[in-house]
Amino acid sequence: MSAGSDAGTPGFETLAVHAGQDPDPVTGAVVPPVSVSTTFAQSGVGRHAGYDYSRSGNPTRTALETCIASLEGALGASAFASGLAAEDAVLHLLRPGDHLIVPNDAYGGTYRLVDQVWGRLGITNTPVDLGDLDALAAAWRPETRMVWAETPTNPRLGIVDIAALAECVHDRGARLVVDNTFATPWLQQPLALGADVVVHSSTKYLGGHSDVVGGIVASNDEAVLQAVGHVQNSVGAVPGPWDCYLTLRGVKTLALRMERQCATAATVAAALGAHPGVEAVLWPGLPDHPGHDVATRQMRGFGGMVSFVVAGGEEIALKVAAGTRLWTLAESLGAVESLIEHPHRMTHASVAGSPLEVPGGLLRLSVGLETPADLVADLLGALERAGS
Ligand SMILES: *Cc1c(COP(=O)(O)O)cnc(C)c1O
Repeated sequence: MSAGSDAGTPGFETLAVHAGQDPDPVTGAVVPPVSVSTTFAQSGVGRHAGYDYSRSGNPTRTALETCIASLEGALGASAFASGLAAEDAVLHLLRPGDHLIVPNDAYGGTYRLVDQVWGRLGITNTPVDLGDLDALAAAWRPETRMVWAETPTNPRLGIVDIAALAECVHDRGARLVVDNTFATPWLQQPLALGADVVVHSSTKYLGGHSDVVGGIVASNDEAVLQAVGHVQNSVGAVPGPWDCYLTLRGVKTLALRMERQCATAATVAAALGAHPGVEAVLWPGLPDHPGHDVATRQMRGFGGMVSFVVAGGEEIALKVAAGTRLWTLAESLGAVESLIEHPHRMTHASVAGSPLEVPGGLLRLSVGLETPADLVADLLGALERAGS
């Protein structure tokens, strides 16, 4: 973790504000310009200042890619039009006949992409509980080339030991990809823990304001960066300059937002844990959470996502989800406004009937930046009104 600048290397917050964002050499602008030009003048045939066409490269996109690479401790990064476009570029590292191991509670859209899109193209997959290295070994095949991990997982907020998993995956000659969307590089740096590739939906915490969809791939592996860059240019699922600007603007306050969201999540988790209508609270900061020790080791904080199971099952859960006034009933996460959702019917509807199906009594919260006491009062009020 680059917690400070003891060794002379800039700290996280410094990099978030400055990496890739030097003042414009021509005008002195302290904010990287939004470069809307699709093409760039050449001084001679094939002679240019690094940019020729905006799909292949754009200065605002470069600023974003440079900044995120530095925050992840990566050699490089590529930005995409969405998190799933970023994931798709990583999956292009596989060839027909290859086998992929995915978490058994992966983000629903990730599983749909892996299973329904890449499955048709000859990539097989096995969903596995990645907290169980014996289960991983049992699912392994000679053609397994990649293991996909999320931690904390969605929506159950399970914790995967990235260092232990990386060792296991590398011993068997495959690559480990970590979806770092829920943790962000401020809480956890998967590459430093041994992962080969990091992917993000920057739609969530990196952007942080529910106003831009995007994705990122970062890596220290030259071959991966080259292959992903080739897909970025060849397929063309690139973010526009305004999207890059908005994401970069969000990243500047990432550390501050995460710090506050982690603290408020602790308050919310404690309040839910004390409520008789709540059967279980799933938050890695709780000492009785099965991933608490690993989370303490590999994360700087426990994150702003909290899930809980209501005692009354799906009927009550649906009433709670529809009954809050401050928590907005909506998909997505990681922004300044607090959200509540029902994974079984909403974000994870696409995995109903698969091994990734989630229980009907589960609710997922994305803790925002509102006054903590207001958030707790609203949640307890909704539980009350739902009759639990
Ligand atoms: C939202 C999300 C994605 C997909 O990203 P999009 O930007 O919606 O395409 C992938 N992984 C996780 C963990 C997510 O939360």
